[in-house]
Amino acid sequence: MKKIKFRFYSRLNLFLDKSSHKKELIHSFFGRQSIKDRIETIGIPHTEVHLILENGTPVDFKHQARAGTLYSVYPFFHNLDLTEDMQLRVPYKGKPKFILDTHLGKLARYLRFYNFDTVYQNKYKDKKIVDTAVEDNRIILTRDHGLLKRKRVVYGFFIHHDDPIYQLASVIDRYNLFSYDLKTNSRCPLCNKSLQKVPKQKIVDRLEPLTKKHYHDFQICVNCDKIYWKGSHYQKNQKLLEKVKCLKIY
Ligand SMILES: [Zn+2]
Repeated sequence: MKKIKFRFYSRLNLFLDKSSHKKELIHSFFGRQSIKDRIETIGIPHTEVHLILENGTPVDFKHQARAGTLYSVYPFFHNLDLTEDMQLRVPYKGKPKFILDTHLGKLARYLRFYNFDTVYQNKYKDKKIVDTAVEDNRIILTRDHGLLKRKRVVYGFFIHHDDPIYQLASVIDRYNLFSYDLKTNSRCPLCNKSLQKVPKQKIVDRLEPLTKKHYHDFQICVNCDKIYWKGSHYQKNQKLLEKVKCLKIY
């Protein structure tokens, strides 16, 4: 039997038992094993890991675990600028696009509302989620460890929180989403398709009397035909962003 030591940093500890938090852990195994397999055996999906140091030197996921060695394992940090030889994967390029597992319907609606291309259906099976993520360069957001441990998955993020507002805050933090325009509502929260401006006179028959009286600018979903305007729901979601900035998420 071989033994190695691990030290997991910051939020990676959330995947471990409380008794193991922020400590050097002894890990035993037989034969030749990649460091990626060892980390995932402990319970941390590879998508959560952004840097592995072997006695202080960066190694990649395929690296064979060497007996008697200390491995320091780090999650993503905004202020940690990694050179190419330290990176475990090619950094995600462009504005983040997401695909969410079946438990995250409310989070999907928030992300769409704030203008992020977000695929979600409550009937999607794991394989469909992985296939779509790979083919369409989407980041998987999930509450399922197993989904993120799949080999083909490159970009993903485990959602620790039950509360959709905290879920939103953790995704905003992880992907720095405040650097994008969150105010222009151009995506349908129900179906993810684009919204288009529509003249009031065209849809006036479909409006409630108070909406008809107080609002003049409308958008319509090109796919599901739902009508949107900047009413109380819009204001509430904009205020929510202020709240999100103040939440302590880890
Ligand atoms: Zn729609």
